[in-house]
Amino acid sequence: MKGQVKLPYERLMRVLVVEDSFTQAQIHQMNLLRRGFQVEWVTNLHEVLLRLQGSGIDVVLLDLSLPDSRGIDTFFRVRDAGRGVPIVVMSALDDEDVAMEALHGGAQDYLIKGQASNDMLVRCLRYAFERGRVEQELREGEKRLRLIIENSYDAFIAFDATGKIGGWNRQAENTFGWQTEEILGMNLADTIIPSRYLSAHKRDMFNLMTRGVSKLLNRRAEMQLMRKDGREIPVEIALFPVRTTDVSDSFCAFLHDISARREMEKRNKEWNDELERRVQERTGELRRSNAELQQFAKIASHDLQEPIRAIQGYAQLLGKRYKGKLDTDANEFIDYILDGCSRMVKLIQAVLQHASIGTTDVKAVQFVDCRVVLEEVLANLKAGIEESRTRVVVGEMPTVVANRTEMVQLFQNLIGNAIKYRGPDRDPEIYISSEANVHEWVFSVRDNGIGIDPRYTDKIFDMFARLHGKTQYSGTGIGLAICKKIVETHGGRIWVESELGNGSIFLFTILRFRKADDGREEVVQ
Ligand code: ADP
Repeated sequence: MKGQVKLPYERLMRVLVVEDSFTQAQIHQMNLLRRGFQVEWVTNLHEVLLRLQGSGIDVVLLDLSLPDSRGIDTFFRVRDAGRGVPIVVMSALDDEDVAMEALHGGAQDYLIKGQASNDMLVRCLRYAFERGRVEQELREGEKRLRLIIENSYDAFIAFDATGKIGGWNRQAENTFGWQTEEILGMNLADTIIPSRYLSAHKRDMFNLMTRGVSKLLNRRAEMQLMRKDGREIPVEIALFPVRTTDVSDSFCAFLHDISARREMEKRNKEWNDELERRVQERTGELRRSNAELQQFAKIASHDLQEPIRAIQGYAQLLGKRYKGKLDTDANEFIDYILDGCSRMVKLIQAVLQHASIGTTDVKAVQFVDCRVVLEEVLANLKAGIEESRTRVVVGEMPTVVANRTEMVQLFQNLIGNAIKYRGPDRDPEIYISSEANVHEWVFSVRDNGIGIDPRYTDKIFDMFARLHGKTQYSGTGIGLAICKKIVETHGGRIWVESELGNGSIFLFTILRFRKADDGREEVVQ
């Protein structure tokens, strides 16, 4: 039918006409049916209330004068039974005050009997229905919002520009100990602000009110608030203005009790402090015992050198005087003693060298050009290099901040080993290179020698660790331990990548420094 009044969900709009006058009801019915409404008609309050129980009614057209109820009372009874169904009141001309009262009580509109045209009636019913629907949606939205806030994990507080509290959820009750009924209408200053913060709070509120600014607005902040029992608690707060007009006339805050977090932070700090104290204590002890050990190694090696030199001296004398005069075994024994002595002297010197690393003056640390260091090392090893027909290739070398003598020693030990542990059937080749990563230089010394079984790649950096007998390769087993100590006292690491028979790459790192604008050296970050 043309002009049918359809609802959004494809049903005709149903009007309940409440009218005790048969004629009037007929007029309304005909008018509304013609316009495509569905119409139901009841004549008294009792019937309306019954009908509204089953509802399905979209709008009520209500005459206030019914046989069993009159005036505004009729409206209130129907309104309460209708549970949100929009009502348009029909009132007599001399009853407009009552109609107004109904409007204030929630009626959607009113019409004066005899004055409203048919068109007006229809328009009025449609608007009433539409408004009713929007209001219903608003009410439901508000209910949902209230439910969310009520069940929020955070405490929620709403207050106006004077600090008067207008909203307080269940979590706020738990957090602050105030029940909603008792705190609504009270002021923040009299309830949850600790007295020592009152003047700052008043200043804040004044700024909020006059200029709309606060350091708490629109960001997370931490502050101390007070519970009803006077106990203070730390909270995290997010404060938002609620803008219903141009200016914010009220504010809301979500707060979270962070006592547990604070407690944890406090305990963590205590733990860290304790740990730091223990580390300090331990480092102190280690430093002391290290220094003592170093001292011991120095004295022991010095003192040991004395008797060995004596043995060496007398063994040499023995050899000179009696070689050929004793039997052949005796000659051999004298050679063993001499050999043992010279190895002992080398060992003692190596131990001494190891003990003295890192003990030199800080001033010995300077900018060291590694290219120059390598030139010196290759000159020192010249004879060995030529004799073994070793090819040495040196790549780009940086300048580092280091102890120069120790850098010479480090490269010399690694290159010396690369020559010493060369392969039996190929000329030795050694490649020395460097590479920068974020804050350190990585140096590598690669050879094509006999290689190392990966099982021992960690062990060889220990003192006296050797993988071969002294008859096969001479040595003390201290060279790599010295390298390790040099690298570590420069804040670096040393390791080897190798396979038996396939050469080795020794790698070590040295911190990268640069000269700061004020001339100081600083680590490259
Ligand atoms: P050593 O005085 O025995 O050379 P180091 O401390 O310098 O003492 O080396 C420890 C051991 O590591 C050596 O005995 C050797 O077995 C192994 N090694 C060191 N450098 C190399 C290398 N370039 N190739 C193969 N093995 C090596």
